[in-house]
Amino acid sequence: MKTGTLLVVSGPSGSGKGTILNKVIADENVSLSVSATTRKPRDGEIDGVHYHFMTREKFLNEIANNNILEYNEYCGNLYGTLKSEVESLLSEGKDVILEIDVNGAKKIADSMECVRVFILPPSMDILKQRLSSRGTETTETLNKRINQAHNEIKEAYEYDYAVVNDMLEDAVKNIRLILETERLRTSKMKFKIDELNRRSF
Ligand code: 5GP
Repeated sequence: MKTGTLLVVSGPSGSGKGTILNKVIADENVSLSVSATTRKPRDGEIDGVHYHFMTREKFLNEIANNNILEYNEYCGNLYGTLKSEVESLLSEGKDVILEIDVNGAKKIADSMECVRVFILPPSMDILKQRLSSRGTETTETLNKRINQAHNEIKEAYEYDYAVVNDMLEDAVKNIRLILETERLRTSKMKFKIDELNRRSF
């Protein structure tokens, strides 16, 4: 049976990871995991597509049943990654991408086999330019985000791969290359190796 790769992707705000990953998931064999949340759906949000919407009671139950790989409370609502969601996609042979912060990535790596990728900006100056060109940051919040980025980049050695997002298309190509390389692991090729080993001559 073919199993996909769980790719856990982190990177500082402004590193462009969302843009890269949206291009990578255009590939039909790659999916983004849909998180669970206790917040109410916004207009246009569809259950099972944008989130798995659930009551707090159900969410707590999922935690108790060990079905939440990591979670966080944000503005009074719980958000988390469902183990069942990730496992069912992987068992369909799909590669699954989780875009998650450094702390969430650590929790996932403690409980599941995964490959971790860190997205780096080409330089801190370029990161600063990218963040300020969004036009959403004051000098204070910009400095906070740059400090936060420095703290996050310190964690990059915890990851298996680092991809520099200089030219977007190159970064997308490199993420695809990582997924292709991971498909060649002997553990992922077990279905073929076992099939060949079963043959009698
Ligand atoms: P929103 O309500 O705007 O959709 O999301 C609020 C926050 O929850 C965002 O910062 C988002 O990144 C975070 N979030 C969404 N899904 C998950 C998840 O599965 N795990 C964690 N830890 N945070 C999540």
